[in-house]
Amino acid sequence: MGLEQYIRDIQDYPKPGIVFKDITPLLANPQAMQDCLKLLLNSLKDKNIDVVVGAESRGFFFATLLAYELKAGFVPVRKPNKLPFTTFSAEYELEYGTDTLEIHTDAITPGDRVVVHDDVLATGGTAAAVCKLVEKLGGEIVQCNFLMELSFLNGRKKLSKYDVFAPLIY
Ligand code: IMP
Repeated sequence: MGLEQYIRDIQDYPKPGIVFKDITPLLANPQAMQDCLKLLLNSLKDKNIDVVVGAESRGFFFATLLAYELKAGFVPVRKPNKLPFTTFSAEYELEYGTDTLEIHTDAITPGDRVVVHDDVLATGGTAAAVCKLVEKLGGEIVQCNFLMELSFLNGRKKLSKYDVFAPLIY
């Protein structure tokens, strides 16, 4: 299907030495977006998903589309102080320092079958933190999915407990 042609490499963004995978051309192309959504949905057939959790901010796009198609709920996991109700937070390691993500304390009902979605799996720190929050609330992670995986960063290792799916692998 050639979805790769809709992912644009941006050199030295957000800082020198990084090649940033930009998904906006894929989002702007209706056919590419539908093809990508279908691939993600195929991997979730008959999995009885209750909730799709999306990581801020590029994870929100496909997480809401997936939730709609799966007739599941959508839950945002956000950067600190963005969510208005009471939250739980999880800290995770970055290359230099740490970052924090938050979820509403009532976002998941214990036993909910959950898909965690983000645009890119890099080192896996973000997704692992999201999974930790979901599990703190009693959710069962059925799959972590991404539009793409940067496999040379070994993110799957941090997510080895989970089923991981990404239609595009670099
Ligand atoms: P990780 O925590 O190292 O796996 O990084 C994944 C997070 O960083 C995701 O939320 C992505 O949105 C973002 N990210 C890392 N690399 C890229 C990239 O090349 N393009 C877009 N987002 C990226």
